[in-house]
Amino acid sequence: MASAQDPTSQTPSSRLEETLSTSARVEELSDSDYEEMETLTRHEEANQAYLKSITSPIEDLLDTASSEVQDETLRAVMPFLIGNPNDFDLNSYGLPTLQREKHVKFLKQSLGPFPPQFAAMDASRPWVVYWCMQGLTALGQDISEYSDRVVSTFSSAQHPEGGFGGGHGQLPHLAATYAAILSLVIVGTEEAYASINRQTMYSYLGRMKQVDGGFTMSPNGEEDIRGAFCALVALSLLNLPLELPPDAPARQHGLTSFLDNLGEWVSRCQTYEGGISAAPGNEAHGAYAFCGLGCLSIMGPPKDTINKWLDVPALINWLNSRQSCPEGGFHGRGNKLVDGCYSHWVGGCWALVEAAAGKGIWNRAALGRYILSAAQFKKGGLVDKPGKRPDAYHTCYNLAGLSWAQYDWKYEKSEGERGELDAPYHWQLDGEYTEDVVWDNGDMVNRVHPVFVVPFGKAESCRKWFEEQTWSSKGTG
Ligand SMILES: [Zn+2]
Repeated sequence: MASAQDPTSQTPSSRLEETLSTSARVEELSDSDYEEMETLTRHEEANQAYLKSITSPIEDLLDTASSEVQDETLRAVMPFLIGNPNDFDLNSYGLPTLQREKHVKFLKQSLGPFPPQFAAMDASRPWVVYWCMQGLTALGQDISEYSDRVVSTFSSAQHPEGGFGGGHGQLPHLAATYAAILSLVIVGTEEAYASINRQTMYSYLGRMKQVDGGFTMSPNGEEDIRGAFCALVALSLLNLPLELPPDAPARQHGLTSFLDNLGEWVSRCQTYEGGISAAPGNEAHGAYAFCGLGCLSIMGPPKDTINKWLDVPALINWLNSRQSCPEGGFHGRGNKLVDGCYSHWVGGCWALVEAAAGKGIWNRAALGRYILSAAQFKKGGLVDKPGKRPDAYHTCYNLAGLSWAQYDWKYEKSEGERGELDAPYHWQLDGEYTEDVVWDNGDMVNRVHPVFVVPFGKAESCRKWFEEQTWSSKGTG
């Protein structure tokens, strides 16, 4: 790897740089230099020891297109891990502080208005709303000023035959449906819940169920693991029946439940590498791994479902291999580059896997270091990697990743059933992660629900509200 570019002189690690650039320089240090180094705090010393340990990355000696872009990535990332090119304030560990106010401003601007070039993003409008609402709440912002706008946006995007599209008059799609429901859950008002037509949603989800157990994303659309996850998120949060609607096409082939053949189908998505792919036979991918684990964690307690349907040691091995070293962040597939959005897609897998297999199996500090040091954009918003522009998507999922690093979760199935698909309502905070942390109190983000990726407590409130409503498949509410 090329040596790091000039870290600024204001960082504790810049002194390390001087000593690392040539070992001979250590001999040249004057007494006053030694005295100065003795004044380093315990945290700063730990930071320097870590940085020293990562300055010799393991490199692929065979030059390929993949090794070249990886080298390029290290040249982009390392100056941010070692130095402070953005000139951010530093926390007590010598890392940039969370630039909370700048990120809040960026997310508020990301809600629009947009220039005409954004017309191509129209079908993704529910996602933009969700990423901004989730990102703002992770930063501790009250989003009630947006409640009415969110409800009216999605009321017009709800299709008369069920589900949500990207906007008024657009065909429904499970991805848009997922983002719309989660946005309304974050708003969390009775008006928001009541704006969802459960009866048409139930019928729509019934049309997505496939005979082999999976779900399509839209009528006659692609069948992949996003469909399975998004459908179960909707079924669980809205407290819909597991029994397939009478007109569900899968009934003609003998299926009676949304869960029929589903565990087997998710199991078939686990690849020879140990990760999870979009559909049987495809390549394993971080985002699909989260969808697969999320789906299983809605079907039942993760300890039961994940262990039943997946080869867990192979999965853990694959997930661990996705943490880039020395960058500390995650990438999505073998031979790919570190990218801030996988702070969530892979980072979010860990709480679910740890509930099935035990704790302490990933490096939280390294992820926190990547997010704070390398993924914060100078003017606000978070990024894929240094050199990229920020967007609401990478901002939302880097912040969720920081939350996965900062909090411990436990799954406790208490006595008493709450109805179908009640598994995701048994998560509890198991405290803040405190070992080898690299963040101060001021760098903490809010807690995020391990399955639904909304502020913790919001999914529970939504489910409770729908549990109190009377259900009729022919009703209107
Ligand atoms: Zn990304």
